[in-house]
Amino acid sequence: MSKCSTNKRVYASESIATDALIEARIRFDHNTSKAVYLCDDCGGWHLTSQGEMNPRLKAALDNGSIKKEKEAFHWQKKFRF
Ligand SMILES: [Zn+2]
Repeated sequence: MSKCSTNKRVYASESIATDALIEARIRFDHNTSKAVYLCDDCGGWHLTSQGEMNPRLKAALDNGSIKKEKEAFHWQKKFRF
């Protein structure tokens, strides 16, 4: 998987891209990515803030697991020296 003309990060599969989407929500408070899409240009997957929200992301937001992971992540950061 090489670089893409969109300059976006390329993911090899939909499930890897979705993992990255959820991870980005946990790690970056201002992340607005909400879906993944297959790129016509590079044939890989990218994150996007456009369109319908990814169902796995929506489920993780709805059931509170993103919020929980976020808290865990920030605690980890606090105690990292
Ligand atoms: Zn691409």
